[in-house]
Amino acid sequence: MNALSSPEALRLKLGEWFQKHGRQLPWRDAVSPYAVLVSEFMLQQTQVVSVIPYFKRWMTRFPTVQTLAEAPEEAVLQLWQGLGYYSRARNLHKAAKAVVDRFGGELPDDPAQLATLPGVGPYSAGAVAAFAFDKPAAAVDANIARVLARFFNIHTPIDSPGGNREIWERAAGLLPSGSGGRLHTSALMELGALVCTPKKPGCLVCPLHPDCLATDPELLPRKGARKATVRLQENAAWCVSEGRLLLEQQTGRRSGGLWKLPLLESEPEGEPPLFETVYPFTHHRITLRVYPSQAPAAPKDFQRWFALESVLSEAALPAGHRRALLALISKHTPAAS
Ligand code: SF4
Repeated sequence: MNALSSPEALRLKLGEWFQKHGRQLPWRDAVSPYAVLVSEFMLQQTQVVSVIPYFKRWMTRFPTVQTLAEAPEEAVLQLWQGLGYYSRARNLHKAAKAVVDRFGGELPDDPAQLATLPGVGPYSAGAVAAFAFDKPAAAVDANIARVLARFFNIHTPIDSPGGNREIWERAAGLLPSGSGGRLHTSALMELGALVCTPKKPGCLVCPLHPDCLATDPELLPRKGARKATVRLQENAAWCVSEGRLLLEQQTGRRSGGLWKLPLLESEPEGEPPLFETVYPFTHHRITLRVYPSQAPAAPKDFQRWFALESVLSEAALPAGHRRALLALISKHTPAAS
């Protein structure tokens, strides 16, 4: 086994590589810790290219932590529409309120305090401390976990408690002291995104290659068994009256605040659906079938009529329901036909 360069030498190589090859991303130039917080929430489970337009729109609509804290939840969910995993939007909203209420509107720079905000786990706390305040705080995302598992040739599954602990300890061992967390963490993360990729890592152009202990990088990182995908079916009503569409609001941790077409208790027999699609929701794959339905005498208290011409800009919907509206609304809007 070759002797590793010192953490200082590794950071230097990484930093030089990043200065040359790092991408320009809108949140990298962000001067505001709030902008960094927003980007970190958006980047959880979503790729950089998808996040960029959402981030720009978000910062135009909610430019400060105060504007977000004061916004109604409906507006927050509406702007998040299309990014999925809406609990992130709700938590970001709550975090903004907590920053205003508990920290006088200024994000704290201490990872331990950041981790007390709703939806901010160890990764996000470290990332905001590093990117926004240049603190030497560890932040292990999927890219960094992959780089470290390979670089140190760690074969323990990284999603096991032992593997997770080892990766975080390794990450902490490479940190600078005092300041410099922004460059170091950005460089490590970017190396995972651009060079130490899940398939076909570019070891020959990697600045860490001379020190890397990986014997077969493509086999790393190891992970435990994935949660099985659960298939579900939703049967929903297309209920239009006087140019308005009936929707119902969801409750619960994952879907609370979102609007859906009213769900039917069972699938109508002998009637073809007006529309059918399949959409993912967490580890579920949901087949949505939409059937024509009569307007109820009185909507239930969690249901509401929306004007057909404005429903798409007013209501936040899960992907499949939004798709159904896009497909079916034109058939009921005279101007569009
Ligand atoms: S040398 Fe290869 S496996 Fe090692 S860190 Fe670089 S890209 Fe990843």
